[in-house]
Amino acid sequence: SDHALQYPESPEAIDWDLHYPAFSASGRTPAFADVGCGFGGLLIALAPLFPDTLMLGMEIRVQVTQYVEDRIAALRTTSALSTPSAPGQYQNVSVVRANAMKFLPNYFQKHSLTAIFFLFPDPHFKSRKHKARIISPTLLAEYAYALRPGGVVYTITDVRDLHEWMKSHLDAFPLFESVDEETLRAEGKGPILDAVYTSTEEGKKVERNGGDKWLACFRRVEVARDP
Ligand code: SAM
Repeated sequence: SDHALQYPESPEAIDWDLHYPAFSASGRTPAFADVGCGFGGLLIALAPLFPDTLMLGMEIRVQVTQYVEDRIAALRTTSALSTPSAPGQYQNVSVVRANAMKFLPNYFQKHSLTAIFFLFPDPHFKSRKHKARIISPTLLAEYAYALRPGGVVYTITDVRDLHEWMKSHLDAFPLFESVDEETLRAEGKGPILDAVYTSTEEGKKVERNGGDKWLACFRRVEVARDP
């Protein structure tokens, strides 16, 4: 349970060098957050595409977090062995075991993120469980705080009802505005979108089962829209 977890008091209290030793003393902090990262497929897909961008996965399940940690360590080792002269790949990804619904602000400074991902989040079908959903007005205020203006929220799900839920809450929140896939692709974010659709373990499962995928993306705006 939560109290067994140790949380940093604030983002400033985190020693990011432990997560990203190759970037130590760079002063960089994570710019991409994958909330509920599961087995880490998105992080692993994006790491080589944006080698200078630090990325952090948050995952609540202990064993799954450990799996991602081991996976990253193995990829770093393999990559270092294959090109001994270069710093090696996957230095820019890491993962923490954390309840993102309670402690996201402990990890990310104001306006530090350029992207936040909610890929195939748990649907919590029953309405009495809707408060357990990862998108809600309170949590959106935290995401807006962590994202810098211009930053993007990526959501995708195979559950139509959850898609409508996430979209309607984001639409209603004055610091986010809907941005369509075409616009994002024109900005060069095509590789990110491709990874959002296909790189995660849950996304692959949906594909195998022939399910639909509903994407909704929102931009963090500088000044609150009129409601
Ligand atoms: N995003 C991954 C993917 O697409 O393959 C995983 C999707 S899985 C359905 C949802 C994940 O979110 C699970 O691994 C679950 O443990 C994690 N999760 C659920 N609630 C969470 C929370 N409050 N904080 C962090 N992770 C959470």
